[in-house]
Amino acid sequence: MHQYLFPRSFKTNYLEADYGDGLYIYDKAGKKYLDGCSGALISNLGHRNKDIIAAVEKQFAKLEFAHPSRWRTDIAEEAAAAVAETAPGDLDNVWFVSGGSEAVETALKLARQYYVERDGEGSGKHVTIGRWNSYHGSTIGTMAVAGSMARRRMFLPLFKESPKIPSTYCYRCHFCKRYPQCGLLCAHALEEMIQIIGPQYISSFIAEPIVGSTAGAVVPPDEYWPMLREICDRYDILLIADEVMTGCGRTGKNFCVDHWNVVPDIIATAKGMAAGYMPTGGIIARNHLIEAIKNGSGAFMHGHTYNGNPMSAAAVAAVFRYMKEHKVVENAAKMGELLGAGLKKIGEGSAIIGEVRGKGLMWGFEVVKDKASKEPFEKKLAAANVVTRACIEEGLIIYPSSGQITGTGGDNFMIGPPLVITEPQVKELLEKLKAGIEKAENAIAK
Ligand code: PMP
Repeated sequence: MHQYLFPRSFKTNYLEADYGDGLYIYDKAGKKYLDGCSGALISNLGHRNKDIIAAVEKQFAKLEFAHPSRWRTDIAEEAAAAVAETAPGDLDNVWFVSGGSEAVETALKLARQYYVERDGEGSGKHVTIGRWNSYHGSTIGTMAVAGSMARRRMFLPLFKESPKIPSTYCYRCHFCKRYPQCGLLCAHALEEMIQIIGPQYISSFIAEPIVGSTAGAVVPPDEYWPMLREICDRYDILLIADEVMTGCGRTGKNFCVDHWNVVPDIIATAKGMAAGYMPTGGIIARNHLIEAIKNGSGAFMHGHTYNGNPMSAAAVAAVFRYMKEHKVVENAAKMGELLGAGLKKIGEGSAIIGEVRGKGLMWGFEVVKDKASKEPFEKKLAAANVVTRACIEEGLIIYPSSGQITGTGGDNFMIGPPLVITEPQVKELLEKLKAGIEKAENAIAK
């Protein structure tokens, strides 16, 4: 069903995309838009990158598909090796899928199978703990472990429900505490939940290193992920990092967990992996998980037709080659410093921005009615959308979300330009954003 016949939202005025060029997308009337959020933090190399297109075309001319149950291909091996090389610790094993939701589903199944292989079919370890204020995908399984109520409510009861703990969200702390006096109650909440359920029933805990689409780039305190790692180790539970949005260089490191030197048991990733040039995702798993399957049943009880398909693999291999050759992750870290400083300045100067937070090239804004009390605007105003529309008029695309609808936060939007952004383009983005926010401020005041 075409989006125009069955649009995701009947309330949205869709822009008519014509073509892309670097950081920009042009509409059919020829208006130029700076892609300030890389779609949804996907187009890490910008649009129409000639090297990636050439690599994909080359593969297309050679072999478009070979079923993964029978064939291995050099291109899939090359792509997997390139991804594994960037992952920390012994995260050496890559399994390709078609997108982020499939990657998370794959991670959840691998976690369960690991314990069955290790402990036998009687293993009770099947529960995955998730967090409120999180997004892990649109399929039923990923919805069960995620906490965005707006996205879940209509589909309850889910086939499988999972227990959840609060996310980190220092600006609107679930425990009404302040960091660091809080002692990271949000991390201790995991231990508490494990004790309530019983570690013998729990296979894994899943979280986004930086909460993305539900709350606008919420960065946890530095101690948080090392604490999660320690708790999971203590109770023999696998730690899954959902790096669908934060992975592949987005935050100025290869993977976001690298900021805290944490090695999760499984990383689920997608978006930046093929940077929008092919529908791709994947998991990266530590060696002991794969060893358990090798020494047990011998096969991961999972599979999709498009696992490791040559076209996506060609895009992944080319994206990772390009990132290495052009030092794209280093650029993301450098430009991130510049962008972050400029965004914070804009936030300080605006009456409706309560907080600006982020890492690398993943930044979130909290839109508020009152900066002192943090009171959000009335829900029906959809303040983040007001800012988005004003920015579109200025020729800048940003990524809005509303934690208000989920009942877990305020109105937010994200800035996440392609990782190949240059210094003049950072300036251009800042100017456009400042103008958009001022315009939104005036529109709201009227
Ligand atoms: N996990 C996270 C953290 C995401 O941000 C997303 C997509 N926004 C997904 C999973 C789902 O990915 P996809 O849309 O490719 O299925």
